[in-house]
Amino acid sequence: MSMFKDIPVEVGVIYEGERIRRKNMQVELGGPSMKEKFELAKVKPLTEIEDGKITIIGPDIKDMIEGKAYPLGLIVEVAGSSLDQQLEGVIERRIHGYMNYIEGLMHLNQRYDIWIRIGKKAFQKGLNSFQYIGKVLYTLFKSELNIIEKIQITFITDPIKIQELHPQALQDYETRDARARGLKDEEVDKFYGCMLCQSFAPSHVCVISPQRYSNCGAISWFDGRASASIDPKGPIFAIERGELINAEKGEYAGVNEVVKKKTLGDVEQVWLYTAFDHPHTSCGCFEAVAFYIPEVDGFGLVNRSFKGTTVNGLPFSTLADSTAGGRQIDGFHGLSIEYMRSPKFLDADGGWNRIVWLPKEIKDRVKDFIPNEVVEKIATEESVQDIDSLKTFLKEKNHPIVAKWQKEILEVERETNMESSREDLAMPVLSASTLPITAGGFKIILKDAKIYANKVIIKTIKNEKTKK
Ligand code: SF4
Repeated sequence: MSMFKDIPVEVGVIYEGERIRRKNMQVELGGPSMKEKFELAKVKPLTEIEDGKITIIGPDIKDMIEGKAYPLGLIVEVAGSSLDQQLEGVIERRIHGYMNYIEGLMHLNQRYDIWIRIGKKAFQKGLNSFQYIGKVLYTLFKSELNIIEKIQITFITDPIKIQELHPQALQDYETRDARARGLKDEEVDKFYGCMLCQSFAPSHVCVISPQRYSNCGAISWFDGRASASIDPKGPIFAIERGELINAEKGEYAGVNEVVKKKTLGDVEQVWLYTAFDHPHTSCGCFEAVAFYIPEVDGFGLVNRSFKGTTVNGLPFSTLADSTAGGRQIDGFHGLSIEYMRSPKFLDADGGWNRIVWLPKEIKDRVKDFIPNEVVEKIATEESVQDIDSLKTFLKEKNHPIVAKWQKEILEVERETNMESSREDLAMPVLSASTLPITAGGFKIILKDAKIYANKVIIKTIKNEKTKK
């Protein structure tokens, strides 16, 4: 693109989705080894922004040691007469897409989870300063979102400065999320769809409803609405939710229709509040994974920054690989932390009553949204590290899942008893996949019927009629 003639590498959509392996990286910014990192967009008054200003606080790329990781704080401050704070989330999420347009730069995740790599080849071509990355961001923001009149960008790599600003960034995210709480899915006619992650997962569309926050945790229903209104042809668009097909599972006719269209038929049905059968697809940017644990018939949760192994012996990365790629995998579900705060959180599967394990860090973050009667009954890595001790823990705490196990055992026993008593007392007279019976003006259809009787009387209809 000619507007990037000052940039030493190419810039374009074709570089989206480019992966940079450790052995090919010059430096890493943020990522799993850095505890504190963030990217944040702020809407400011026009008078407070110096348009085009790019500031670097701390070492620049060229000052960094090859192969090492560094913390990063990235602040994009924007101003415009029609801009308001409600657009901060949407502007912030564009950083991900725009940075990925840069040849030899990989940007993953969002907010406090950012993970960036600059490749060796790009560095050798001259991509050795944040000034270049800032210029690309500046140009793309100004050309694609013309409601932004002024923009200034700050890159912080000084660890002390990051430590100072990190709590405020977390507070800003929380304020933004809290604003979106309270509205119910049933109260709106429109949901929003996002296709920003299709470069990584072509069959993925996020369906963002008031009570199901986007997988990346960066876009609320309000953000979706704001984005679709300023850029209706952009990657975030309105979905007429249409007829409610299944309230428990969260299935809407309009959602099915749009998802089918936007995934070119790969995904035909989406159930918003469950991890089974037709769950919402998972791209690669989800903040956490819900994973089914068959041994206890419950779910574990694990977030991206959890470094240990989960209760089933697998780390986040393995579970994420089993989940990602725009697929619908039964029992594996990519989701956001904010969705855990929703009353619709895996509602069709039992919600928090079905969650048996999660990292302590996440439990502390969402504690106020877990029902009081179950919060102490959910294990963390501090109390439980494997499935056997999980079973013991759940029994000791009388987790609601234990009642489910008992109910299932009783049902199996009852069915076994019924089977044997039927077989003891009666003889089978009929098995049929469909058996219509007409009686008293009603037609009763028995499906997969097996009928037992103590005695079988056979009479001809003619005889019956003759009697009358
Ligand atoms: S995770 Fe979903 S909402 Fe977030 S950027 Fe990707 S597609 Fe959009």
